[in-house]
Amino acid sequence: MKSKMKQEVQPMHVPLLDLKAQYSKIREEILEAVTEVLDSQYCIGGPKVAELEEKIAQISDCKYAVGVSSGTDAILCSLMSLDIGAGDEVITTPFTFFATGGCITRTGAKPVFVDIDPKTYNINPELIDKAVTEKTRAIIPVHLFGQMADMDPIMEIAHKHNLYVIEDAAQSISATYKGRKAGSIGTCGCFSFFPSKNLGGIGDGGMIVTNDESLYKKMVCMRNHGQTDEYQHQYIGGNFRLDPIQAAALLVKLPYLDEWSKARRDNAVYYDERFAGSVVETPYIHPDCVSIYNQYVIRVPNRDELLEYLESKNISCRVYYPLPLHLQPCFKYLGYKQGDFPESEKAAKEVMALPIYPELTDEMIDYVTEFIKAKKK
Ligand SMILES: *Cc1c(COP(=O)(O)O)cnc(C)c1O
Repeated sequence: MKSKMKQEVQPMHVPLLDLKAQYSKIREEILEAVTEVLDSQYCIGGPKVAELEEKIAQISDCKYAVGVSSGTDAILCSLMSLDIGAGDEVITTPFTFFATGGCITRTGAKPVFVDIDPKTYNINPELIDKAVTEKTRAIIPVHLFGQMADMDPIMEIAHKHNLYVIEDAAQSISATYKGRKAGSIGTCGCFSFFPSKNLGGIGDGGMIVTNDESLYKKMVCMRNHGQTDEYQHQYIGGNFRLDPIQAAALLVKLPYLDEWSKARRDNAVYYDERFAGSVVETPYIHPDCVSIYNQYVIRVPNRDELLEYLESKNISCRVYYPLPLHLQPCFKYLGYKQGDFPESEKAAKEVMALPIYPELTDEMIDYVTEFIKAKKK
């Protein structure tokens, strides 16, 4: 009787992300920091934004950082500051969040997709060269799920053809490749502070990092309507400014970033151990890379069935991303078709992200893995 009791699994709810668990530990600090901004009435820009920029530049091993309104605007502002627009082509991966491709088209340029490496899910550098034309101006590698793309061959191709490289590091702040920080290798790097990212604000926010001083100065203008002096508009920019309330909250969270990313890595190790010997394909992290595991993505056959089953057990999982960009209705005009990027299309059908947030307990991971292994045996 006793042993039977022990075997019975207590039902629990495992959410994909639990922002309240994080917030409850730093609530007082956040409230104090936000109150400080409100009391100062520095409602736009100000010391909090400047301090965050300095610190993000520092942790990214970059000279400069420009706070912006979102990860999306970080990419858009980068492209605009590099004068990319109509008639230009920008190479990127179709297996990414919409914003990567969306920003390219919003400048008037044309996205040119290149398939992924099926192990890392990042752009496959071996396929980039073939996609370069005389119109190509830039490459946007995306450091997906917390792991950086294979940057050495990407930079080599960029140098050969004189192309800019904009790192979409929205999911990979402080991740490394051969010891080098995300955002520090290309022309510039883009971060997102969307609440589900490893360093998440209390709303939207983003940042661009670079080592190029003149580009930095231009980005500072570009995020503020391209204004160089008061009411003097050198460029056609936008309102891409970072909210000081976000900066204040992010300054509270930044000292915890390494600890949180390590907790995610520890969870990943525990998951890997639980899945060892099963049919579940666990994330592959290249030996040159340290991942911050913004997502823990497994690959399984009959993915949709498993997803539904886990949902019925109150375990929340999600598919990043179910439809590659080249098959999105809004990009139909680009003329791509099913079969053009087989690895991206296959990944879109087989991958699913499991809960990996720092506060997730071993018991929760046991619970999740037991159901998956029971179903997949
Ligand atoms: C989150 C994300 C973005 C966009 O960031 P927002 O802050 O949500 O605008 C861009 N690219 C990738 C890969 C992302 O994951």
